[in-house]
Amino acid sequence: MVKIRTSRSKAPPAGFDDISDILQEFGDKLKDAQNAPTEGKKKNQLLWDIYRIHHQRSRYVYELYYKKEAITKELYAYLLKKGYADQNLIAKWRKQGYENLCCLRCIQGKENIHEGTCICRVPRKDIKDDKPVECVTCGCRGCASSD
Ligand SMILES: [Zn+2]
Ligand SMILES: [Zn+2]
Repeated sequence: MVKIRTSRSKAPPAGFDDISDILQEFGDKLKDAQNAPTEGKKKNQLLWDIYRIHHQRSRYVYELYYKKEAITKELYAYLLKKGYADQNLIAKWRKQGYENLCCLRCIQGKENIHEGTCICRVPRKDIKDDKPVECVTCGCRGCASSD
């Protein structure tokens, strides 16, 4: 789990104030998901919520920097350092074929069925039976770039 340390010794780079509300919102959602009642839910499903929010937050930072070019390099580095975004995941998004990757486990896990690649990475047209796509790791329902 990504830890967010709050250190007040150094002020965040310029531009941080503009996005801090949204980051705060993600943080709140994450807390809610982590404290969600476990009754009637599978452990996997609880993790899915947490994965999803982590993903959305990383995506937000990624788009700000690489797509919208709305934040400075300095602020981007700061956000990574503070754990607001997953650097490794973002590195994958920048590679062709991985633009929508849901989480790193889906391309690493040995427990995954398709030779180290999760079912959610298989393009829909290559999935034979009309099986519902739902990955065990993060609950992704398909994130192949061609979908
Ligand atoms: Zn996926
Ligand atoms: Zn995944």
